[in-house]
Amino acid sequence: MTQRQPVLFVSHGAPDLLLHPGATGALWSALGRTLPRPTAILAISAHWESRQPRVGAAAKPATLHDFGGFPRPLYTLQYPAPGAVRLANRVQSLLEAAGQAIAIDPQRGLDHGAWAPLKLIHPAADIPVSQLSIQPQAGPAWHRQLGALLRPLRDEGVLLLASGAITHNFAWLSEPGAPAYPPAVEFAQWLGHALIDAGASGPLAYRATAPHGQAAHPTEEHLLPLFVAWGASDDGDRAMRLTPEFTYGGLAMDAYLWQSAEQAGATWEALEGIVPAATGTAPRPPTQS
Ligand code: ZN
Repeated sequence: MTQRQPVLFVSHGAPDLLLHPGATGALWSALGRTLPRPTAILAISAHWESRQPRVGAAAKPATLHDFGGFPRPLYTLQYPAPGAVRLANRVQSLLEAAGQAIAIDPQRGLDHGAWAPLKLIHPAADIPVSQLSIQPQAGPAWHRQLGALLRPLRDEGVLLLASGAITHNFAWLSEPGAPAYPPAVEFAQWLGHALIDAGASGPLAYRATAPHGQAAHPTEEHLLPLFVAWGASDDGDRAMRLTPEFTYGGLAMDAYLWQSAEQAGATWEALEGIVPAATGTAPRPPTQS
């Protein structure tokens, strides 16, 4: 029987993270070693925007170096995973069954929001990957709904990997090892509480209700993948917030993981000592029901 897959959100940070992976890289590698191996991966990255959903179906997705001004070695990195054409067709049928138009894109490669974390989570690049676009004009509630439409994939061995940023204001950034910027800490903590403790209505209205809600995301696209991941979770999951570090002072590198209580216990044990409480917020162990 296929083991139900978790849902993972990662903050992918700046593209140069792969040159000095730090605590975030250690977390991603540990997650790759710890989580059940998926049969395919559907990546939902902040770096593919479209009016209507699009899903990539290239047989060999190119590694897109969709960033500028970073050190040259980054542009030589490749993530040669096979494409997940069957998965793309399955995503199309799930969305169409719900009356949602979606287009198959036979050319689309993997952007850095997808391949950078995958390079550390599954470095062998031997698991088929497809990417699904986001719709920035449509807001958080739509992306939660999109996640709910994708939920059945978890029972089919597919890892949903959402990739964005918990905070994404370039004016909040300073040098790489700078101390965490207080408004970024405050927003990230609010979001953690809203997602894990406050339940259904919590984070959707973050722009109006969170401290620094708009400042944390002058544009929304980097937070929207989180709502997809959240939408793909259900009452049977335990939510876990993992807080490895802040990079450039203003980038909260929090990851979120939703998985069964049983898996959560094993994950928690495996991650112990790997995720430092660098922000002063210890990662939460799964709570008992
Ligand atoms: Zn990004």
